[in-house]
Amino acid sequence: MNLADRMERYLPRQLLELLKDIRGRADARGERVYLVGGIVRDMLLGYANLDMDLVVEGDAVKLAREVAETGQARLLAHHRFGTAKLKHADLTVDLATARKETYARPGALPAVTPGTLNDDLFRRDFTINAMAISLASDDYGEPVDPHGGRSDLERALIRILHPRSFTDDATRILRAVRYEQRLGFELEAQTAELLSRDIPMLDTISGDRIRHELELILGEERPEPAIRRLAGLGVLQRLAPALTGNGRLADMFVKARTLTKGDQLTALYFCLLIRDLDEGELEQLLGRLNAPAGPSRSMHDTLRVKNNLALLDNAALKPSEVYYLLREYDPLAIQANSIAAEASTVRAHLQLFLTRLRYVRTSLNGEDLKDLGFSAGPEMGEVLRTLHKARLDGEVVTRADEETLALSLKTPDHGADREHGRE
Ligand code: ATP
Repeated sequence: MNLADRMERYLPRQLLELLKDIRGRADARGERVYLVGGIVRDMLLGYANLDMDLVVEGDAVKLAREVAETGQARLLAHHRFGTAKLKHADLTVDLATARKETYARPGALPAVTPGTLNDDLFRRDFTINAMAISLASDDYGEPVDPHGGRSDLERALIRILHPRSFTDDATRILRAVRYEQRLGFELEAQTAELLSRDIPMLDTISGDRIRHELELILGEERPEPAIRRLAGLGVLQRLAPALTGNGRLADMFVKARTLTKGDQLTALYFCLLIRDLDEGELEQLLGRLNAPAGPSRSMHDTLRVKNNLALLDNAALKPSEVYYLLREYDPLAIQANSIAAEASTVRAHLQLFLTRLRYVRTSLNGEDLKDLGFSAGPEMGEVLRTLHKARLDGEVVTRADEETLALSLKTPDHGADREHGRE
């Protein structure tokens, strides 16, 4: 069934015009252009998606350049392997030269050569992602579906294209679960069997690639079903044996979403995910994922704060004591523990730190103390700390209160030092 009508209804007018401009240039160059991948899948499902991926049987970079030269769009970037990005108003379109991929060994990045649309579809992960729609004027809207993606969409199945798929690229194990849970689909029987068999192939994948796929999962609207499923399949355990997806994780993820979003939310999910590991297990996992310094610190701090929670389970603690117990830790790690902690006193202290204590500043600074007759040095540091502590505990409220307190702390020596010019 031709999909021209559906495209015209689904895509914004401006985008259709841009696609037709691109198609016009491609026709003139004797090249064919297709809409491919997630957008085709989502259009057929009726889900919102404006990630325009085009495959060109020809030279995608030259084509994109020509479109840009006519002024119909701006060329944002172009790369080796024949990919380019065009931008028009706030719409972007990715173009890629159709390519063929061959895997020299499991988990290696594939060797890439130019190919046909069918080659390009054959290198993809699942049948539902391996469909295209022609944009060429002689068969505009014609679907290209060599692997039965449409029928799998109707049957709600995630199916790999060939039995070596997970061996070639085991990141597809993580991707399969992501789509399965996002779309509410099932793994087709043989796909499920091969997925389980090939879990050890995850060992052939670099840390960066595994981490990227985990980030994509944690970037989903509701990642918890996928995490539970990965734990159920034993995939998480392959990355760190102790990573079993604690039963409370789903509730904690729901809570996390009410507190932050975007990259911070992904980082917070990671902190919750690893909270049941010990230091050694975490260290191993971070090494396996080649995790960058920032997220590594948040995760390490999550365990350190967790180890301090017993000290925070004391209603008699002064705010300044809470502050000193927590001040050196990443706020994200404190947030993760505030979500996970069972004791209400502990949660209240963590929240107090996050919402108020960490922002408390004294009115007076070193310069002000000099004006009051203090000289720079360890004693001034001590006075500033005392003022800060008094602020945290609400013992001083105004600048005048701070001045009074500071002057009361002045030792006779201090004044003497100034008088003798020994600053
Ligand atoms: P969505 O998450 O909505 O599917 P997307 O389709 O843009 O977004 P990407 O992760 O950007 O997903 O991948 C783009 C396309 O590239 C996918 O549709 C898929 O066909 C293909 N792809 C991505 N990663 C792989 C992989 N490891 N193996 C095979 N094909 C892949």
